[in-house]
Amino acid sequence: MIFPPRADSLQADNLRFAIQMEEETFKKITDLIMDIAKEKGFGTRPEEINTMEKLALIHSEVSEALDAFRKKRMDGENGFEEELADIVIRVAHLAGIYGIDIEKEILKKLNKAKAREWKWEELNEMHS
Ligand SMILES: [Mg+2]
Repeated sequence: MIFPPRADSLQADNLRFAIQMEEETFKKITDLIMDIAKEKGFGTRPEEINTMEKLALIHSEVSEALDAFRKKRMDGENGFEEELADIVIRVAHLAGIYGIDIEKEILKKLNKAKAREWKWEELNEMHS
């Protein structure tokens, strides 16, 4: 048996187990982000930040990712890859400030998504 097993080959109730076996990578990343935030003065507690500003900054990273993608700037400085990383870093920072176990929340959401069915014919979205 390949260990850890691939998440996409598992049932929804096994997702948590599979990802925990990968040594809580996301928690380690969040811990590093919080260390840097403390060192650089970006805030580590709710009373040290403006939450709405932090949410707006997440949105700004999404816009930067969109702009990079539109201009076919996929890698390198300010490229699509880096902007997607910026989004995740800002989300993890905000989660860390509020003591939210974002890994657990992602797993909960993935479990819901695996069990849910979408009626694409009723939506005005494109998927290919
Ligand atoms: Mg950016």
